[in-house]
Amino acid sequence: MLSNIRIVLVQTFHPGNIGQAARAMKTMGLTDLVLVNPRCFPDEEATRLAAGATDVLDNARVVEHISQAVGDCVQVVGASARLRSLPLPHFDDPEPMAVQMVEHAHEAPVALVFGRERFGLTNDEIRHCTHQVSIPANPDYGVLNLAQAVQILAYEVRRAWRHQTPSAAQPKSKQPALPTREQMAHFETHLHQALSSSGFLTQPHARTEDHLRALFSRAQPTRKELSILRGVLTTLEKAGTKRDG
Ligand code: SAH
Repeated sequence: MLSNIRIVLVQTFHPGNIGQAARAMKTMGLTDLVLVNPRCFPDEEATRLAAGATDVLDNARVVEHISQAVGDCVQVVGASARLRSLPLPHFDDPEPMAVQMVEHAHEAPVALVFGRERFGLTNDEIRHCTHQVSIPANPDYGVLNLAQAVQILAYEVRRAWRHQTPSAAQPKSKQPALPTREQMAHFETHLHQALSSSGFLTQPHARTEDHLRALFSRAQPTRKELSILRGVLTTLEKAGTKRDG
């Protein structure tokens, strides 16, 4: 189950932070590390600071874009110190986030995504997330070092995993499957096409799409519900084409 909880580090600048993050993960029983475009990896400093967790580094996957890191995940939580203007569902307390994540991780991979040391995650990267989380630190000085933020959230996940009720720990085979981020992205593209061709979306980059994305993140539709929605879009598109033609 913990093997389904992935840590994603986006464009980490200092390789030492990657090593320390690997160590933080292993102390909490997490093993799946994905690095998006790291500045320097593999690296001696990363290996040195990973201490006994070099196996986590050895097994880490390096990808070029965040979509490749989270495509198969059913929940993707972006960690940021500051609340962004994006209307994505936000946990201002890591505990309920960890409980939900552990529940989903019984079925499929989930991910916690961490940003760059200098400027965190971009809005475009946050758009690949389903939720956001902040560690409620000192409001006057609340930005943690990257690996320490990984440590705290990995600890919360471990705590939620240890405290889950025995029934929650059973695989819930009857629970309807949630779509992966990749399936959600196909739906978002389809919705975008339908909204543009129908004339509903008139400006590029309309905030409307961010609000719709937030709505679907909150609602957490099942795969079945998402496929019904796609069927609705296809039928409406055909009806629109007939009318116009
Ligand atoms: N200067 C950046 C923060 C970089 S810290 C900014 O202002 O956004 C590097 C990463 O650590 C962040 O992208 C975030 O993923 C994580 N992090 C640091 N402090 C955090 C906090 N209080 N809550 C959640 N994540 C935090």
